[in-house]
Amino acid sequence: MADTLYDTDLIIIGGGPAGCAAARMAASVGMRSILIEPDRLCRNLYRIPALNNVLGGYTSGPELADAITTELKSTELCRLELGRFVTDLRADEVHVTVTVDTGARLTAPYVIVATGVGPLQPRDVAWITAPDGLALPPLWQAEAHDVEGRTLLVLGGDRPIGTFLRANPTTDTRLLVAYPATDEYKIEEIRDDLRVTLLPVEHLTLGATEGILVSAETLGHDAARQTITADAAYLSIGNAPTAPSGDLTRGADGYCPPSDQRPRVIVAGDVRSARFQRIMTASGSGGEAALRAYYAAGELLKS
Ligand SMILES: Cc1cc2nc3c(=O)[nH]c(=O)nc-3n(C[C@H](O)[C@H](O)[C@H](O)COP(=O)(O)OP(=O)(O)OC[C@H]3O[C@@H](n4cnc5c(N)ncnc54)[C@H](O)[C@@H]3O)c2cc1C
Repeated sequence: MADTLYDTDLIIIGGGPAGCAAARMAASVGMRSILIEPDRLCRNLYRIPALNNVLGGYTSGPELADAITTELKSTELCRLELGRFVTDLRADEVHVTVTVDTGARLTAPYVIVATGVGPLQPRDVAWITAPDGLALPPLWQAEAHDVEGRTLLVLGGDRPIGTFLRANPTTDTRLLVAYPATDEYKIEEIRDDLRVTLLPVEHLTLGATEGILVSAETLGHDAARQTITADAAYLSIGNAPTAPSGDLTRGADGYCPPSDQRPRVIVAGDVRSARFQRIMTASGSGGEAALRAYYAAGELLKS
C-alpha cells in the first residue's frame, strides 16, 4: 500500500503495549509500519511482577512482554528500529516526517505516537529542592542486585513502591520513603512492610556529601528538621507524559489528547491522558489508532 513517496505506510513511535498493538493491527490489514523504540519492546512490562487485569492468561509482566516481543519479531510488515528514539515530529496536510536520533528522517502518510509516560523529577515538584540538573531513576526500575543490602532514599510515596516490594519479596533493602501530605493515601499498601520507614515531610532538600552517597535535610509536618543519609536515591513522585518535540498538541497537563491532534497524527496509550493508564487500554487504543490510519488512507485513495 505504501506510495513510493513514503518510507512506509505508518510510523509508530514507542514500543510499549500501545505501539506493539498498533503494529500488529496495521499488519493485519496489510499496512507496512516502522516502529521506533529506544529500549527493548514492552520494557515497562518486565518490571511488573504480577498481573491480574489482562486477558490471555498472562499472570506476570515479563511473560506478556516475551509473548508480545515474539509476535512483533515475526510480523513481517513491521520493521523494528530498536535502540533509536524520535527527536522530532512534523506533520502537514499530506504527510508526516519523523527525525530519529541518528539524524535520519522517515516519512509516512500517518504517525502513531505511543510514547507513554516517564518519571517526574525532583525539579518538577515544589516540595523538593535538589541540585541543578539532577535526574534520578524511578524505584520500579531498580534491579535487585543494585539494591540488595542497601538503604535507599525514596522520594515520594507513589504506588510503584508496592510494585518494587512485591517484585523483590526477599531483598534485604531498607527504604526510607520521604513523601508529602498529598501522597498520604497512597502509602497504605506499604505501611506494614518491615523494610519501609515512612518519613512524612513538608519539604526535602537533597544534597551530596563526600563519603556518603546521598544526604537530605527534611522538614517534618511538626517543623522538626532531620538529616537522613542513604546509599542511593530513587524516585516515586509520579509520572509525566513523554513525547517528542514538534507538531503534537499538548494540554495544560502535558498530555496529548487524541482529538486535538493534526489529522495525520494519531495518539495512543498512556500519553493520551492521566486516566485509564493500563496495559489493556493502551493496547486497545493502539489497535484503534492503526485502524484509524487505515480507514483514513482508504478515504484518500477513493478521492
Ligand atoms: C510499576 C508499574 C506497574 C504497573 N502495573 C500495571 C498492572 O498491573 N496492570 C496494568 O494494566 N498496567 C500496569 N501498569 C501500567 C502499564 O504499564 C501502562 O499503562 C502501559 O505500559 C502503557 O503502555 P504504552 O504503550 O502507552 O506506554 P509504555 O509502556 O510506557 O511504552 C512507551 C514506549 O515509548 C518509548 N518512547 C518514549 N519516548 C520515545 C521517543 N521519543 N521515541 C521512541 N520511543 C519512545 C518508551 O521507551 C517506551 O518503551 C504499570 C506501570 C508501572 C510503571
